[in-house]
Amino acid sequence: MPDEVTNLAPEERVLSTLNEDGSRRWVNPRPSKGKFFYARRIVAYLLIVIFSAVPWISFNGKPLIFLDVVHREFTFFGKTFLPTDTLLLAILLIILFVTIFLITALFGRIWCGWACPQTVYMEFLYRPIEWLFNGAPGKRKPKKFIGFRKFLQYAVYLLISLHLAQTFLSYFVGAHNLSEWILGSPADHPVAFIIVAVTTGLMMFDFAYFREQVCCVMCPYARMQSALLDKDSLTITYDKNRGEPRGRMVKKPKSSSGEPINLPVLGDCIDCTMCVQTCPTGIDIRDGLQLECIGCAQCADACNVVMEKIGRPLGLIRYASERMIEGEKTHFIRPRVVIYPLILIGAISAFVFLLSTKPAADVLFIRGQGQVFNILESDEIANQVRVRISNRTEKPATYTVSIVDPPGVRIDQFSPMEIEATETVSENLLIVAPFSLFEDGKIVLSIKINDDQGKFETIETYKILGPMSLPKD
Ligand code: SF4
Ligand code: SF4
Repeated sequence: MPDEVTNLAPEERVLSTLNEDGSRRWVNPRPSKGKFFYARRIVAYLLIVIFSAVPWISFNGKPLIFLDVVHREFTFFGKTFLPTDTLLLAILLIILFVTIFLITALFGRIWCGWACPQTVYMEFLYRPIEWLFNGAPGKRKPKKFIGFRKFLQYAVYLLISLHLAQTFLSYFVGAHNLSEWILGSPADHPVAFIIVAVTTGLMMFDFAYFREQVCCVMCPYARMQSALLDKDSLTITYDKNRGEPRGRMVKKPKSSSGEPINLPVLGDCIDCTMCVQTCPTGIDIRDGLQLECIGCAQCADACNVVMEKIGRPLGLIRYASERMIEGEKTHFIRPRVVIYPLILIGAISAFVFLLSTKPAADVLFIRGQGQVFNILESDEIANQVRVRISNRTEKPATYTVSIVDPPGVRIDQFSPMEIEATETVSENLLIVAPFSLFEDGKIVLSIKINDDQGKFETIETYKILGPMSLPKD
C-alpha cells in the first residue's frame, strides 16, 4: 500500500448535493418570504386544488381528463381518443413539447419553479409540514419531544401521500369508481389496492427522502435546458456587475492618527449567503446559471430582504436575461421565438382539422386466423375475415356490413354489431363467393359498413383469396 492515498475526488464540483467523498449533502433551505414566494404560493395552492378536483369534474357527460389505459381510451375535455387516434395523440404530444420549448426560451425554467408538481408539493405542502413540527432552519424547535414530533410529521406525510396516490389513480380509473372501491374490501380490487399502496410508498420516498434529487439528477428537462435557453431568455440571474467584488460590510477603520482608511470599493453583494441558504437545490446562483437551478426565485426573495436592510436597490438577483446583465438590449423577437409558435400553429391546425374530419366510426378488416380459404361442396370459396369497428360517437349504434360489389358474393354467419359509445368490437365474418368470380385467385370486394343512426356509412375495399383452379372430383 502506498503511504499516500490518491485523492479521487473531482477537482470541480459535480453536483450541489454531493459531498467530496460522494455522500449526499442534505439541503435544508431556509424559508424566504417575498413577492415571488407569495405569488408562487397562490399558484401552488390553486394547482393543488385543480389537480385534486379534475377527476371529479365532468364535461359533456364525461370526466374532464380520464386516462383509461386498460381500454386504451383517453378523454380530454369531453373528447375521447381511441387507440386508432395515434396520429392525433402524437400531434397532442408535439403541441405539449413545443409549448414547453417556447415557454423555456422566453422564461427559462418557470415551469419547474412555479408549476411542476415536484416543486409545488415539496415546497408548499411537505416542507411547510416539516417546519410546522420541527421548525424551519434557523428557527429549529428545542429537541424535547423530537421523536414524537417526527412521528407526527411522517404520519401527516403518509396521509397526504395516500391522498396524492388516490388522486393520481383516479385519473386512470375514474374518481367515482375509485371512491366505491375504497369503501369496499381491498380483496375486491387487489390491483387498484396494490397500485395505491405502491404509489403512496413512492410519494413518501420522493417527498420525505429523495426530494431535490429528482430535479438535480433525474428530471430530463434540466438536461435539455442549455439547448433550450439563449442569451435573451429571462432566468433568475445574479447581477454580477452590480454585486462584485463581493465582501462583508465593515465599519471604516481609522489610522492611528484618526484618519479614515480607504477600503477597496465593494459591490452590492455583502456575501451573507442568504441566497445560498434558501436555495432548495443547494446551489449558489452567484456562480451563474446551473443545471440544478429550478428558477424558483427564492434566492431573489432572500436577497431583496438583504438589499432592503442595507439600503441598496432591490433586484441584485432578479429575472433577467444574460444580455440585460451585460447592459445589452434583449431581443424578445428572435428565430426560436418565431419558429416555435409557427410549429404550434401548424400542429394545432392539423389537430383541429383531423379531429373535425374524423368519421363517426373506424373500421378495419383483418384476415382470419387459420386456413386462408376453404373450398365448399357447392364449389364456392369461403374466406374468414375479422372486422373491427370502433364506435366513436357518444351513443350506442348498430353496424351492418354488406357486400356491394361484385354481385353474387355474400356474407354468412354475421349479424349486425351492437357497439356501445366509444367502444371497439371485433367479429368474424364468413365471406362466400362463387369460384367463377375469382380472377388470378382473388376478388377485390367493395364492402359497405353503415350504422342505424344515419351518422356513418363507408365503402371499404378488401381482397379475398381463392384457388387458381378447382380440384377435380
Ligand atoms: S443574498 Fe444577496 S447579498 Fe447575500 S450573498 Fe446572496 S447575492 Fe450576496
Ligand atoms: S438558484 Fe435561486 S432560483 Fe435557482 S433553484 Fe436556487 S433559489 Fe431557486
